[in-house]
Amino acid sequence: ARAQIGVTGLAVMGRNLARNFARHGYTVAVHNRSYAKTESLIADHGTDGDFIPSESMKDFVASLAQPRKVVIMVKAGGPTDAVIQELIPLLDEGDIVIDAGNAHFPDTRRREAELKEHGLHFVGTGVSGGEEGALNGPSIMPGGSKESYEWLGPILEDISAKVDGVPCCTYVGSDGAGHFVKMVHNGIEYADMQLIAEAYDLLKQGLGASAKEIGEIFAEWNKGDLESFLIEITADVLQHVDAETGSAFVDIILDRAEQKGTGRWTVQNALDLGVPITGIAEATFARALSGSVPQRTAANGVLEAHAGTWEVTDREAFIEDVRLALYASKVVAYSQGFDQIAAASEEFGWDIDRGAMARIWRGGCIIRARFLNRITEAYERDANLPLLLADEYFVSAVGHGVSAWRRIVAQAALNGVPTPAFASSLSYYDGVRADRLPANLIQAQRDFFGAHTYQRTDKAGVFHTEWSLDRSESTES
Ligand code: NDP
Repeated sequence: ARAQIGVTGLAVMGRNLARNFARHGYTVAVHNRSYAKTESLIADHGTDGDFIPSESMKDFVASLAQPRKVVIMVKAGGPTDAVIQELIPLLDEGDIVIDAGNAHFPDTRRREAELKEHGLHFVGTGVSGGEEGALNGPSIMPGGSKESYEWLGPILEDISAKVDGVPCCTYVGSDGAGHFVKMVHNGIEYADMQLIAEAYDLLKQGLGASAKEIGEIFAEWNKGDLESFLIEITADVLQHVDAETGSAFVDIILDRAEQKGTGRWTVQNALDLGVPITGIAEATFARALSGSVPQRTAANGVLEAHAGTWEVTDREAFIEDVRLALYASKVVAYSQGFDQIAAASEEFGWDIDRGAMARIWRGGCIIRARFLNRITEAYERDANLPLLLADEYFVSAVGHGVSAWRRIVAQAALNGVPTPAFASSLSYYDGVRADRLPANLIQAQRDFFGAHTYQRTDKAGVFHTEWSLDRSESTES
């Protein structure tokens, strides 16, 4: 038994993760339900390093040095449970089971509790960066016990992406914390993508620009504050030409966005926790709207627009307005995502360091961006920052773009261009900074029809008005 780490599940992700371990000098035990995938890994990449292939789970487990570290990289859901059940009787106390698939965090909490009863460590780990990240260095978000991280951390940090020599991997928190943070990461990714798509649409409708021209604008933006993987690939995609038709590639793609569900989980959890993540929610619903074919068909050409036509007189100023609106909306989406992490951390006792999360997202993952440094710095200034938007850096960075943001959202509305994420982010911004919100009226209505009570601005206590009687006010103690 000499393998330092094992990987079971050798589809694209597991295969690449196993190769990444091997390339870093670890002896890697490898296993897959059907042996063919194991054989093909050895045949194609056996020279990457030291692999110990096994056909049976029993041999696989036996090839691992103790405490065993087994990475499960199979289809999330039932398959993960099946593999765990197969592993339990083969493992010994103190062994560490790592689920690196895209599990939903409540499943991770359940599995962690079950494995603990068997004396096993269960580490639900977020892994971001897709196939390429898994091979060349992903962003890794491990949960589970702190003790298991002492064994596992150095290996995971070793194979993770590095930014300025700092690993994009850190201990997140107990039980489901790692998968939770990965879920919010994906939610933020949805928001980021939707905001970029809206910026693209605004440039297209406002300037009548071609995909290639817009691609050039994004390439330019990638040199500044917006520098990020998603902006970079957007510039690339927009400039790509379809080989078959010779037209811009994006122009021949059907406009229906799909999803695998992590955005939906993020929004569902935000509803449970009562955290307004309007940017992520609008992004998730925008995908749903794009796929609402019968509704779109019923509305197209039927619903009246009464919209203006966009007349941009100063091209450069318009582009800068869109850029500033994109940046401001993006800050809102991240601020909301970090609020959700803070709320869950409180709810589940995870004690998550939000600055560290921004730090491990700087490389390897889909939302990697220059701007994450600013978030880490904000949480370094105040680890308990109640609102990322209210950090001094973001106050001025967003403040600088607010007029542009208003112009863009207002013009889009007047000209009939949908900007759900831009507009809802601006609404959130105005809502969260408001001196007084119309929630006073909501409370009065609730008291009227349901005796739900209200508080007053002028004195402490809980009050109810007898709306259907003499309208006298009573105080509840
Ligand atoms: P898949 O999600 O396509 O899963 C295929 C693997 O699961 C195969 O190895 C398959 O074995 C195994 N499997 C399926 N059912 C069972 C079962 N009942 N028992 C045992 N093994 C089973 O593979 P991917 O590599 O795409 O993804 C792996 C995990 O990583 C998933 O959880 C996925 O959500 C996540 N993922 C993460 C990404 C990221 O960027 N972080 C990107 C893509 C995926 P067999 O060959 O025998 O069929």
